[in-house]
Amino acid sequence: MANKKCTSCSAPLAEEGATAFGCPACGVEINRCYRCREQSLPYICPKCGFTGP
Ligand SMILES: [Zn+2]
Ligand SMILES: [Zn+2]
Repeated sequence: MANKKCTSCSAPLAEEGATAFGCPACGVEINRCYRCREQSLPYICPKCGFTGP
């Protein structure tokens, strides 16, 4: 299970501080790396296209 990637920037999620949560619209797992979380970069759900902070 070491192949997760940040949904925002596609960086591998090896760093501490990465977060994962369900898409509010469809529930698919969204992963964000530490950097994107810190900067509150938007994500786009790969399944339904939902965008959010
Ligand atoms: Zn990222
Ligand atoms: Zn979704």
